[in-house]
Amino acid sequence: MSFDVEQIRADFPILHQQVYHKPLVYLDNAATTQKPLAVIDALRDYYTTINSNIHRGVHYLSQQATLAFEETRQLVSEYVHARHGYEIIFTKGATESINLVASSFGREFVKPGDEIVISAMEHHANILPWQLMCAEKGATLRIIPFHVNGELIQEAYRDLLNDKTRLVAITHVSNALGTINPVREMIALAHEHGIPVLVDGAQAVPHLPVDVTEMDCDFYCFSAHKMYGPMGVGVLYGREEWLNKLPPYQSGGEMIRTVTFEKSTFGELPFKFEAGTPNVADILGFRETLLYLDRLGIDQIASHEESLMRYTLDQLRTIPEVRLVGDSPHRAGVISFLIGDVHPYDAGAVLDKLGFAVRTGHHCAQPIMDIYGIPGTIRISLGLYNTRDEVDSFTRAVKRVIEMFR
Ligand code: PMP
Repeated sequence: MSFDVEQIRADFPILHQQVYHKPLVYLDNAATTQKPLAVIDALRDYYTTINSNIHRGVHYLSQQATLAFEETRQLVSEYVHARHGYEIIFTKGATESINLVASSFGREFVKPGDEIVISAMEHHANILPWQLMCAEKGATLRIIPFHVNGELIQEAYRDLLNDKTRLVAITHVSNALGTINPVREMIALAHEHGIPVLVDGAQAVPHLPVDVTEMDCDFYCFSAHKMYGPMGVGVLYGREEWLNKLPPYQSGGEMIRTVTFEKSTFGELPFKFEAGTPNVADILGFRETLLYLDRLGIDQIASHEESLMRYTLDQLRTIPEVRLVGDSPHRAGVISFLIGDVHPYDAGAVLDKLGFAVRTGHHCAQPIMDIYGIPGTIRISLGLYNTRDEVDSFTRAVKRVIEMFR
């Protein structure tokens, strides 16, 4: 199927509206993406046809919902090329996936004096769970620094790994700088020391082909809502060996084998990590997302976004007042910048009134802003439905901001 953006945009009703009497230009895809009609319809279909609780019902509706739920797990596993469907755990988002690993891994494998390595460009979701766990366990958080262009300093990473390192947690794509990190090489290096690696894939899965088996990561986390799927659904991929070794994160119904007041035993993977009734409706909506992305083809999506990203950078570079924050040659369509000395919030407010949905601030990555010594940035983040026309009108809007604050 050819990648026809105009045709694709027809699948996203929310894009066809005006805000403040201006056509909406949605450039905040790193925060959340819009949903195609197929996904929205799936939610209604679920509640009007097979709504029921899964796994434990013997009746028809429950069987249908369970089948569709487990089929979704299989589709996710194929999407990221996991070896087994049961290596896919449903959570409510990337944040919960990371908390699951930090909590379970910390309880079982971290002791005083140990070290956890993360990078200086992590989203707060990949900082705080480790920080809290380290404080509880008397462990230390060690930080991989990055160059001013937004690339991690690999020599510093190499030096941080030692026999006290218990785990490495790094982002695949930075949500504030756009950098695509060389995760495969970084994982191989950690594995030479026998250290497992968690990759935060929240900003990668919607935009790049991801193969967790080839990457050889031990854990990989992402959120459905950033990949054109519903809110409230997340994924933790875990290598079977690790998932078997970790204790449960939450407990309750669905995740047990036997329960007595003296002792309980837990279910097999993946159920051991899925306590309570899951978000069945949204997970079934997510199934439609995966089918939709499959129809478009992730390679085609990636190449559309790559060429739009290069075009956007070229346009922004023609404006002398624009200063890019993060300019790694290996990057995705997340573009952070400043306009002269205009405060990012002021620029964001003007852009909003002109119809542009952009993000301003620290993007839940405050340490990055501290490193650059800036209060925040203006961030645009591209999605599969963005067009060159939108980029052109955005470039004109940036010039208007410059005029206004001159
Ligand atoms: N990691 C990264 C890199 C992110 O960009 C985000 C969301 N901005 C998260 C984690 C957290 O995702 P969620 O809020 O969906 O749990």
